[in-house]
Amino acid sequence: MKIILYLILAYIFYALIKKLFVKAPRSAGSAQSSSRKESSHTVDVETAKDPVCGAYVSKNTALAAKDGANTLYFCSSDCRDKFIAGR
Ligand SMILES: [Zn+2]
Repeated sequence: MKIILYLILAYIFYALIKKLFVKAPRSAGSAQSSSRKESSHTVDVETAKDPVCGAYVSKNTALAAKDGANTLYFCSSDCRDKFIAGR
């Protein structure tokens, strides 16, 4: 009777492996296309010059402040405060 139990377990295991192999090519294909998009996306990270200290900062991480129609980017809140104070 134990052999039948082992056969059932073996079949379930085989079915799971088969499912993994069927799914694998699809996920690998989508991962390749997404990684290509990411690599091209990271190239054009916009940078801006801090008008106070002159440091180049990424627009994603910098502190932004509106100055009329322009948006200015600062490396820190200290630089932003200095700019606002000196305006
Ligand atoms: Zn600065």
